[in-house]
Amino acid sequence: MDIQATESRYTSGVYPKRNLTLVRGEGVYVWDEQGRRYLDATGGQGVALLGHNPPAVRAALRAQMDRLMVCPEIFYNDRRAELLEALQSVLPGGRAWRIFLCNSGAEAVEAAIKFARWRTGRVEIIAARRAFHGRTMGALSATWNPAYRQPFEPLVPGFRHIPFNDVEALEAAIGPETAAVILEPVQGEGGVWPADPAFLRATRKLCDDHGALLIFDEVQTGFGRTGRWFAAEHYGVLPDLLAMGKGMGGGFPIGAVAFPADWGPLPSGAHGSTFGGNPMACAAALAVIETLRREQLVERAARLGALFQERLRQIRSSLVREIRGLGLMVGVALRVRATPILRRMMEEGVLALPAGPDVVRFLPPLIVEAHHLEQIARALERALHEAPAPVPSAIEGGEG
Ligand SMILES: *Cc1c(COP(=O)(O)O)cnc(C)c1O
Repeated sequence: MDIQATESRYTSGVYPKRNLTLVRGEGVYVWDEQGRRYLDATGGQGVALLGHNPPAVRAALRAQMDRLMVCPEIFYNDRRAELLEALQSVLPGGRAWRIFLCNSGAEAVEAAIKFARWRTGRVEIIAARRAFHGRTMGALSATWNPAYRQPFEPLVPGFRHIPFNDVEALEAAIGPETAAVILEPVQGEGGVWPADPAFLRATRKLCDDHGALLIFDEVQTGFGRTGRWFAAEHYGVLPDLLAMGKGMGGGFPIGAVAFPADWGPLPSGAHGSTFGGNPMACAAALAVIETLRREQLVERAARLGALFQERLRQIRSSLVREIRGLGLMVGVALRVRATPILRRMMEEGVLALPAGPDVVRFLPPLIVEAHHLEQIARALERALHEAPAPVPSAIEGGEG
């Protein structure tokens, strides 16, 4: 079978695809159908937190598969109870949380938006420019990129966008109609932009002053990616709603949104998901939490992330504008388009992501070792060295 021709013929077409067919993965590596090995610094778009096919997640899934694969939330389940309890010990703020389980980041954001509207009885949601919160109609309404939004308007009413890190703009926008402010503590797809600590602190205060809720979208930053369990901890700012996804299941689809336990339970029937809280996903997420803790991968992400950023700053190239990031979420802002650089790195056996038109983004598995990071830095160095002179950048579709 010609895999690429067959897939191209029948797939929806919504993804900008690379000329690469992956058939196997282990640890930081993936292999194509010809047996060529690649170092995966995309981390499966930030999902393969423990690397590809992590033994602990495989074992947990296998064991769960032999016991019970399906258990909708109208029934109780042992794995789900264990996961809800385990999440208490990793979520920030030292407070108790209630948690809605779902299957993806966009679903977690959708739930957060609904819960915020329910809790406040208000409609308006303030999001940030460059924000990415997902592609379903509610999450898309919070997402900024006009190329993603415009073809699908009208979107959900009540959303507006302010410049990220702009306290005055938020002050002007927030008011008695505001249900919530939704932010990524480190903007991911928008170009890897860590928030200013002062902006997040001011946002918390403005939300409190106006009776609005603060939603953190930690779909990309959660579960150790930034060198803390959640990026909120770097800032000492506690959100009211915290959305999770991506790496949470170590490769298995799961998402969640947490809200303060002292709200009490939401009204029965207010929300739901057929697959939400399924025992397979819960088993995978439990194994992720246990492994992150046992192997101290969160601390490791902080340490190696700092080393990696330091190494990238040593690259002598006029094409590099800036290195940004937190932990193992790192962006290299360029004066040229990212796509040709990514293509060149792929030829060198290293896979990385774009974040907007001119940022190369690295989301390596947290099990990555220093010599892997050196290999990534060298591949980038070589690609930049061979790149043509800067041209004006153009908007392109991102990869999530
Ligand atoms: C990837 C991402 C989403 C969307 O998650 P999906 O699982 O693709 O729906 C939402 N928010 C952020 C910050 C993300 O990085």
